[in-house]
Amino acid sequence: MKVKFLNSDGRELQEFKPIENGKVGLYCCGPTVYNYAHIGNMRPYTFEDVLRRTLEYAGYEVNHVMNVTDVGHLTDDGDEGEDKMIKSAREQGMSVWDIAEFFTKAFFHDTERLNINIPHHVCKATEHIDEMISMVKTLEDKGFTYTSGGNVYFDTAKFPEYGKMAGLDKQELQHGARTVVDTNKKNPQDFVLWFTKSKFENQAMTWNSPWGVGYPGWHIECSAMSSKYLGPHFDIHCGGIDHIPVHHTNEIAQSEAANGCKWVNYWLHNEFVIMKNGKMSKSKGGFLTVQDLVDKGYDAMDYRYFLLAGHYRSQLIFTWESLDAARTAREGLLKKTAQLKAEGVPVDPRDFSEAAEKVLKDFQDHISQDLNTPRCLADIWSCLKSNDISSGEKLGLLLDMDRILGLNLAEAELKEDLSGEALDSEIEAMIQQRQEARKNKDFALSDRIRDDLLARGIQIVDSPEGPKWKKN
Ligand code: AMP
Ligand code: ZN
Repeated sequence: MKVKFLNSDGRELQEFKPIENGKVGLYCCGPTVYNYAHIGNMRPYTFEDVLRRTLEYAGYEVNHVMNVTDVGHLTDDGDEGEDKMIKSAREQGMSVWDIAEFFTKAFFHDTERLNINIPHHVCKATEHIDEMISMVKTLEDKGFTYTSGGNVYFDTAKFPEYGKMAGLDKQELQHGARTVVDTNKKNPQDFVLWFTKSKFENQAMTWNSPWGVGYPGWHIECSAMSSKYLGPHFDIHCGGIDHIPVHHTNEIAQSEAANGCKWVNYWLHNEFVIMKNGKMSKSKGGFLTVQDLVDKGYDAMDYRYFLLAGHYRSQLIFTWESLDAARTAREGLLKKTAQLKAEGVPVDPRDFSEAAEKVLKDFQDHISQDLNTPRCLADIWSCLKSNDISSGEKLGLLLDMDRILGLNLAEAELKEDLSGEALDSEIEAMIQQRQEARKNKDFALSDRIRDDLLARGIQIVDSPEGPKWKKN
């Protein structure tokens, strides 16, 4: 299967050609762990999961790397504003280290609920300070930096290609420069590689460096960590569309300046999920999390289906009605799959009839055209409606397609009516205890209790009226 992507670098649909035969180096900008991820934040990780599954389906061995920004990230991408981690630590009355650990756990709890595969390398910024210092040193040795007001800056005037991927010329960048001007900078688009003069008192996370005690700029972490795990030149880099003009532009400049070669071949960016009344913002608050959806009685996987129903490069408007539609569709799909499973065994794709082969080919064409997941979902439904495809083939098709879509169809089971079963007091107490654990955000405990109940043959299903249950 040949895969094509719309490369943000050049803005055209290009056939994917790996640097090394059969292998893919994939870097994805990860979360900043000072708060819960909102449902918009989960879009990049979901589309990157589909991307990775598609590449694996196409036969590539993927090395998937993602950073976790657990060191100071300012409230503004361009070096202005307040440190997000410190702000959050102050508000929550916790240390910055505890904040980072707590929200990193919460993030991976959400990815698990959305059936997102964990990257092969999850690298924390705080564990790669030496690599960042070494890259800043290289940039300094090569003459790409200057020190001003105690901070080390990247001198964008020394990198003529600055802004090329973003399609920004210097003129535009000047225009787009922020009104708050850092007087230490020679050019408004220059950015900090290493801070020693923190604007914030009691900066908790600091390290020794050749330029004094301080902490790294945000952009350098992705450049240093991707080089460590994927080398100086790799295949694909992903992130949200907001990263194009500043974060990814700066990552490219410092990586190519330090490594002396082209850095990334394909750039894939997802558009935003927005609310009807506008943007979602993690730093400004007032957003929905995956847990909010679960608390309202949805399964987190309903949200995965909702995301798949839009193309990752199109803006998606979140409404409860559209989430309802996603839930109905996903539940219908699970029910259909369970019925097919009850009817017999899946036919292997190698033994497909012409009609089944045609559906599979359509699906593969759609996913390989820049990950057209909405068309792929339509393929699934047309397969289910077809009179020319046998039940065994339908099941074979669904399971094969689900290797990419990740809707957990293999686990679909026919459900009994959930009401009217008798509970013994021990199980009732356990369910109560799980509710308490969830209220206290102790996900490890709540998951353990759920697993204990499962081991006793009791399945809990969250609903708006509270947890319901059934005996397996
Ligand atoms: P952050 O944790 O704030 O660094 O954001 C994590 C990822 O979410 C980044 O790749 C952002 O580009 C992306 N992102 C932020 N807001 C949204 C949104 N509303 N919809 C889709 N992606 C988003
Ligand atoms: Zn990044």
